[in-house]
Amino acid sequence: MAVSRRKFLQGGALAAGLVLSVGKADAGVDSSVMRTKGLKSSTTICPFCAVGCGLVVHTKGGKVVNIEGDTEHPINQGALCSKGSALFQVANNERRLQKVMYRAPGSDQFVEKSWDWALETIAQRMKETRDKSFKSKEINKKDSKEYLVNRTEGMAFLGGAGLDNEECYLWSKFARAMGVANLEHQARLCHSSTVAGLAASFGRGAMTNHWIDLKNSDAILAIGCNPAENHPVSFKWIEAALDNGAKLLAVDPRFTRTASKADHYAQIRPGTDIAYLGGMINYALENNLTHEEYVREYTNASFIVSEKYDFKEGLFCSFDDQEKSYDLKSWAYASDAAGNPKRDPTLKDPRCVYQQLKKHYSRYTVDMVCSITGTKKADYLAIARAFCATGRPGKAGTILYAMGITQSTHGTQNVRATAMLQMLLGNIGIAGGGVNALRGESNVQGSSDHGLLFHLLPGYLKSPEFDNVDLKSYLEKWTPKTNDKKSANWWGNTPKYTVSLLKAWYGENATAENGFCYDYLPKRSGNYSFMKLIENMGNGKLEGLVCMGQNPAVGGPDSIKTRESFGKLKWLVTVDLWETETSIFWKRPGVNPKDIQTEVFMLPAASSVEKEGSIANSGRWTQWRYKAVEPVGISRSDLWIIDKFAKNMKALYAKGGAFPEPITKLSWNYGGTEEPDVHLVAKEINGYFTKDMTIVDKDKTLEFKKGDQVPMFKYLQDDGSTVSGCWIYCGSYIKDTKDGNLMARRDATDLPNGLGMFPKWSWCWPVNRRIIYNRASVDKDGVPFNPKRAVIAWDALEKKWKGDVPDGPWPPMNDDKEGKYPFIMVPEGHGRLYALDMKDGPFPEHYEPLESPARNQLSKVQSNPASKTTGNLSSDTVKYPFVGTTYRMSEHWQAGAMTRSLPWLVELVPDMFVEISETLGKNKGIANGDKVRVTTERGSLQAVALVTSRLKPFNVQGKMIEQVALPWHFGYAGMATGDSGNVLTPSVGCANTSIPEFKAFLCNIEKGGKAA
Ligand code: SF4
Repeated sequence: MAVSRRKFLQGGALAAGLVLSVGKADAGVDSSVMRTKGLKSSTTICPFCAVGCGLVVHTKGGKVVNIEGDTEHPINQGALCSKGSALFQVANNERRLQKVMYRAPGSDQFVEKSWDWALETIAQRMKETRDKSFKSKEINKKDSKEYLVNRTEGMAFLGGAGLDNEECYLWSKFARAMGVANLEHQARLCHSSTVAGLAASFGRGAMTNHWIDLKNSDAILAIGCNPAENHPVSFKWIEAALDNGAKLLAVDPRFTRTASKADHYAQIRPGTDIAYLGGMINYALENNLTHEEYVREYTNASFIVSEKYDFKEGLFCSFDDQEKSYDLKSWAYASDAAGNPKRDPTLKDPRCVYQQLKKHYSRYTVDMVCSITGTKKADYLAIARAFCATGRPGKAGTILYAMGITQSTHGTQNVRATAMLQMLLGNIGIAGGGVNALRGESNVQGSSDHGLLFHLLPGYLKSPEFDNVDLKSYLEKWTPKTNDKKSANWWGNTPKYTVSLLKAWYGENATAENGFCYDYLPKRSGNYSFMKLIENMGNGKLEGLVCMGQNPAVGGPDSIKTRESFGKLKWLVTVDLWETETSIFWKRPGVNPKDIQTEVFMLPAASSVEKEGSIANSGRWTQWRYKAVEPVGISRSDLWIIDKFAKNMKALYAKGGAFPEPITKLSWNYGGTEEPDVHLVAKEINGYFTKDMTIVDKDKTLEFKKGDQVPMFKYLQDDGSTVSGCWIYCGSYIKDTKDGNLMARRDATDLPNGLGMFPKWSWCWPVNRRIIYNRASVDKDGVPFNPKRAVIAWDALEKKWKGDVPDGPWPPMNDDKEGKYPFIMVPEGHGRLYALDMKDGPFPEHYEPLESPARNQLSKVQSNPASKTTGNLSSDTVKYPFVGTTYRMSEHWQAGAMTRSLPWLVELVPDMFVEISETLGKNKGIANGDKVRVTTERGSLQAVALVTSRLKPFNVQGKMIEQVALPWHFGYAGMATGDSGNVLTPSVGCANTSIPEFKAFLCNIEKGGKAA
């Protein structure tokens, strides 16, 4: 029987959420070898999601002729999903941008220009805007004092999640030299709440374990994510766990492909995750299912909270109704005479965290939770039972989540709730455990690592605030302290990492005398996150915008408003492989180009197989990919483009301008007459010694020469003798030769424990540690809680750790002299069930989404009182009776530019559609395939109806509430048709991170109708 490719994908691979693979044909002949005989080959990493699958690229005569899964790669073992399989069409595609294009103000067309003309003109625009808008000093409204701020708010830089690490690093460095305050990238919209929520719990903001480790789980709770579809190849490791007897538990508003493979599925109303997870916390506490030793010894359960702390009627203490904010000091720990937190190891003190936690979540009864979430009680209890059964030594449960958790006005607290549940069950640091934030863009982890967010510098150092007036005061503010000798307090090394960063940026110019050029850094005075930036653009406060592979016309909330805001810009630069909705906003449907005076520079970028560099996957594996062919047309790598931006600005500012020194004195020399040497950039990120050094490390004396690569971040210094562009990557490129590039390693040998860590495959931060917080996988003597799946174990005879790289080299906690607590990244050394620095409370509390059909049943406080609101909202449940939510699918990716131009994928999913339940279809007279119009207070769009039993209404307080679910990958550029679900989503954000609330809003749906 002949089977078409489409039928094959529909019927087989896609139904399973998977995967195409290469391998040996039945006759024993290697089909891959036959197909690729005589071709040149190189390896690469998939540019789509952050599973980080390996591929082999075959070329002939300078053309890509075949791309297939890398059978040697330990994560995907040759398998690829529909997107990875379509990479061939990224390399060979007539729709790729091959020329530099320019659109003059008011023009209705692009015209071709040369690189030289475009780059010189862009440099002039950047300089004009910077000179005009640069602020050296500012009077602060609160204290009326003048502060040095050295920044421009006149332009914004967006994007980076699709760039290589080396490109992200240079983009971050260049942006700071320019003084750009509005620096943001895709992570603000997808996982900024992950970084904040996990860092507040454990001290680092990344996925704790890694993809292959999923096979080691006994229970996998997938909440607010759909890995079978959005991280398809990861699902093979979930299936490996299922083959070993694990339970898969899916919690989602929709019955997804992940749910179809689950042992238990629970439907949840969008935006009610804290109620759901808070209920599981209560369930574990009430039924004594917590890992008692772990909770007592490794978390802050025993810490006593200050007398000020209180929680009443939906509000924590110290809420300022005018400012809509809390005084975070009011929930500090009570301290003893030595300045350390007071503790009660019996956990009985009513003021200890454990008792406060119990009290707080005792309100989250099963009945209450199910009434809020709309989940059926039997489903809820089945999942609570199965997952909480992992709360004992010898068992492992992992929580997987993605945008369903993060994109909420309480997104950071959602993340916190996952972390708290996992600490209570003793699931952090162990194999098969962890809180695993599933990253959706190939290098969104790396772009975050390199500081492409306004409030972070590379390595998650804080970007300076206006009142950090000099390096000393900056370090005082951001270097945590402890008096407890058992606490490693690793962030206490902040001075070493900060000075090494400044040396990387300002080289010889950065001296101790001038504070290592600290003054050159822009100082922030408020919020410059994505939504604020778009609001300011709409208000005419921004002149210029550069989008590096980001498409905000589709990807941001309230897209119609965003697109209108672009028209207020004087100039816009887009750097991409494709024409995007952003680059052609001036000719979008319904507008007259003559009315739009924005100049647009559309620069063609090289694809991932046309350049060399590293990317970090969701599990922090930093993998090297190679250039297979030259870029198409005259497109260039982002590295080349950023290098030109910087060199042109240096040349212009050498002649003068507003505060030129941060640019003219910027250390910028990456060799190469044309393409900068990416290895030089990677080596700077790692770091090197600036003088000959002798370092005594325990019983070893180490000699280093000036220029030697720093082998580990523990050798970085705060006196200017070391350079490191991103301290967490120190150790990734350890010798001044290509062989020293550990990110390029391809040795797929596992450790004897067989846990799938593959320590010689690529490199992962920090220090090649594959499971972070792994000191919590052992008891206080260093004996693994689960000897069968031992991540690390203390060898008392040899006095060393065996297994994974331990999270800190010290002996186990019971060692009187040198033992340390396991959570080395927080100053108290204990995982935080109770967080000190969350803007909306130390415990996650349920609030309704800002647009909701339900009243908050737990308190009178309807929505997060500290959340950020800028957009149009409506509480009219007559006009908008349904709950809207957005989601992703396997065949299209993010804002769609990368997939809506690939015929194979467009053939599979050609049009925008909307999913509704059979009951809603019946009530509204909508049949499968009908055209429908979905409307919110922000706008409306047309789509094709998909009436499906996968969606069901929720029972909320006795009332059945329907949901409407939409993908957001579509737009007016590319081959597929339809508009983005983000036309409908509101510009409201989380209190801690301003991540928008994409996942829950009020809407209506009608049959037929035209888009407004
Ligand atoms: S999109 Fe993700 S799962 Fe699919 S091949 Fe690429 S990295 Fe693998």
